[in-house]
Amino acid sequence: MGKATERDRSRKKQVSDSGNGRPESLDFIRAKVAEDLKSGRYGGRVVTRFPPEPNGYLHIGHAKSCCLNFGIALENEGGVCHLRFDDTNPETEDIKYVEAIKEDVRWLGFDWGDKLFHAADYFEQLYDYAVTLIKRGKAYVDSSSEEEIREYRGTVTEPGRESPYRSRSLEENLDLFERMRAGEFEDGEHVLRAKIDMAHPNMLMRDPLLYRIRHASHYRRGDAWCIYPLYDFTHCLSDAIEEITHSLCTLEFENNRALYDWVLDNAGIEHPRPEQTEFARLDLDYTVLSKRKLIRLVEEGQVSGWDDPRMPTVAGLRRRGVTPEAIRAFCDMIGIDKVNSRVDIGKLEYAIRNDLNRRAPRVLCVLRPLKVVITNYPEDEVEWLDASYWPRDIAKQGSRKLPFSCEIYVEREDFMEDPPRKFFRLAPGREVRLRHSYIVKCEEVVKDPESGEVTELRCTYDPESLRGPPADGRKVKGTIHWVSAAQALPCEVRLYDRLFKTPDPDDAPEGQDFTVNLNPESLVILEGSLVEPSVADGPPGTRYQFERQGYFLSDPVDSRPGALVFNRTVTLRDTWAKIASKTEQDDQGRPT
Ligand code: ATP
Ligand code: MG
Repeated sequence: MGKATERDRSRKKQVSDSGNGRPESLDFIRAKVAEDLKSGRYGGRVVTRFPPEPNGYLHIGHAKSCCLNFGIALENEGGVCHLRFDDTNPETEDIKYVEAIKEDVRWLGFDWGDKLFHAADYFEQLYDYAVTLIKRGKAYVDSSSEEEIREYRGTVTEPGRESPYRSRSLEENLDLFERMRAGEFEDGEHVLRAKIDMAHPNMLMRDPLLYRIRHASHYRRGDAWCIYPLYDFTHCLSDAIEEITHSLCTLEFENNRALYDWVLDNAGIEHPRPEQTEFARLDLDYTVLSKRKLIRLVEEGQVSGWDDPRMPTVAGLRRRGVTPEAIRAFCDMIGIDKVNSRVDIGKLEYAIRNDLNRRAPRVLCVLRPLKVVITNYPEDEVEWLDASYWPRDIAKQGSRKLPFSCEIYVEREDFMEDPPRKFFRLAPGREVRLRHSYIVKCEEVVKDPESGEVTELRCTYDPESLRGPPADGRKVKGTIHWVSAAQALPCEVRLYDRLFKTPDPDDAPEGQDFTVNLNPESLVILEGSLVEPSVADGPPGTRYQFERQGYFLSDPVDSRPGALVFNRTVTLRDTWAKIASKTEQDDQGRPT
């Protein structure tokens, strides 16, 4: 089954046998699947589904659900996972979301094969099930207004009251429902409701709505229908139609389970039939995972679109430079739980670093350049130095040539005129090693006479220092990155950071909402950065580690030869934790 096979076979091995002969513990859902397989409950079948509503893009919470549903199918012999669009609301759904969701699921590494379904394709069958319920005296047409229905529902502490239309005859119900379908009524004139119990302690069981009238075009069914089934009716029956075995959803649906089972019971769905099990949704610090809120950010222009690299969407993460492997590793790391909790975004960043550390070649890019003239280096000479792409990993092959000349640029913050003792970078009279190159010494500082700003450093280099430490045994502690002025490529660098400045963005002052917590520094654009020339060969979408700066991706949309654009995927270390704990920074900005 596609790309994921190799990985999941190994995962299966991993979950069933940790190598010491003892089975590793499975999460409660996988344990349940294993138990059902053992008991033969579904005749050895494992069929899950991932059921997005096409009213927005997928976010990392959906990725968790994908990993669970497709993961379980892959881990079990003959397991299958359906991709089903839960598309019963003509007002918010769109084909553009269908396409985006398919792209994202595929990109995450999952393959639904020929199991692509749409709840909207079941409208005829669902209608027949509704008629069955009416005929069994289990559903009725209510002509109360929306307001009356709400009022009659009661509260958590008070029972509801029965609608005056509840006792309509079977014939009248059938006739009205047929005419609802035929388009004889306006929106809201009638609804179809289940006849359960208006005093039920579970409010969802107080005669829930099954169908409503909406004279609206559906992106898939056009104007074929003007009555649309509601979630609680559609979802369980779609599961039954597709013979799903394990219907997995998030904890908010715990109360809906009674209704799920009620509909299946009363529609005459026989056992073995799908069973709903709930798990904790993913909530991530410093971001929001609700389509409604994400749509607002897009529509209000707070971000550039669904694929803005600050968005927690799959498309945003992809454009930021995150790989599907990192997302899957993160989902594995957080596991499946029965209680909701917020996940530290540091865990996601850890998974991203861990993954990019292995795949991103190291190159040099100066984000905020400061000119350095090497006064004792021949003016017209250019030396092409051998530089490994993996300087810290001798087992890994691959290198490029790095030009060195008398005029280079270093990072502005790697120079301090009056440095503290532990500053092992450039300062008047101090020496530093240039990565892959010579040791240089700062001899003179040139300033703008008006502003006093440092505009240039004049240095000398030690011609003997190219390989290994200086012969006289003197210690040079710091190594900094640099680029050669004549060959460096100008580029734009987009420094992305967390979208919100507070862990729980919904925790907003009275009368304000989550948008007040947006981080004003979530995007800093640097226009005048300089990168070494070797990256000219990388097509848009290439990943690098800019040494001492972080992991970057050449932007797949905006970057082009001659006008390079790089997105910062993640810094090398958790700078937010640093801020929080105020520990001293390692001067070299090295990854751990
Ligand atoms: P939202 O609350 O963002 O609108 P949703 O649940 O309405 O999301 P759907 O398209 O209906 O979005 O979700 C598809 C599947 O993904 C469902 O099975 C849902 O339970 C699951 N899912 C949605 N959000 C999360 C999350 N944060 N963590 C885990 N699973 C999620
Ligand atoms: Mg939903």
